[in-house]
Amino acid sequence: MIADLRGRDITDERVLEAMARVPRELFVLPPERNLAYADRPLSIGYGQTISQPAMVAIMCQATGVREGDRVLDVGSGSGYQAAVLAELGGDVHTIERIPELVELARKNLRAAGYERVFTHVGDGSLGLPEHAPYDAVVVAAAAPSAPPALYEQLAPGGRLVVPVGGPDGQLLELVVRSPEGPARVSTVPCRFVPLVGAEGFPAV
Ligand code: SAH
Repeated sequence: MIADLRGRDITDERVLEAMARVPRELFVLPPERNLAYADRPLSIGYGQTISQPAMVAIMCQATGVREGDRVLDVGSGSGYQAAVLAELGGDVHTIERIPELVELARKNLRAAGYERVFTHVGDGSLGLPEHAPYDAVVVAAAAPSAPPALYEQLAPGGRLVVPVGGPDGQLLELVVRSPEGPARVSTVPCRFVPLVGAEGFPAV
């Protein structure tokens, strides 16, 4: 998997090393363990997926998370992205709207030895103000536009990465908090499940 990522312009050695240390097989459903290191998303139930490893790597690389950073992970799902962010040295809070998936993420993170990742149930499109400010916010679900609450919860110089667009495809947007206001860069095309919430899409 790491060799595949190198071939896809993932050049940040810290990200590659962090991903090499996280046992992804503990974050996929047992029938699909044989596919754990393929570069593809996999179903985790409730209509949701564990993100493709290349997207996890791109989001970690874009936010540059390092030792001691305060990090908010929106859309816990399996807990895999949160584990990679913790491996990068982040103090990670992860929030998920589906209670059963919060349980799954908590169980997976414990099984893999990530005791210091804090899990929360709630609408992550509004962030998690009680633990703000964050040096990095990583959103694993597609929003119609970068949620303002997430920008407001960034520390000065903090980075937000979020897929922006409709349900059929998005561009990964990097937003940096600066004294002049949000500095935005649209990067790679991607396809994520919708962010469902007050600053996302309505539930169907
Ligand atoms: N980071 C996850 C990817 C999960 S897919 C992993 O590594 O496995 C995206 C997740 O976002 C889904 O579990 C979905 O339920 C969740 N989600 C969607 N809208 C949300 C919201 N408003 N707040 C929190 N989680 C949300």
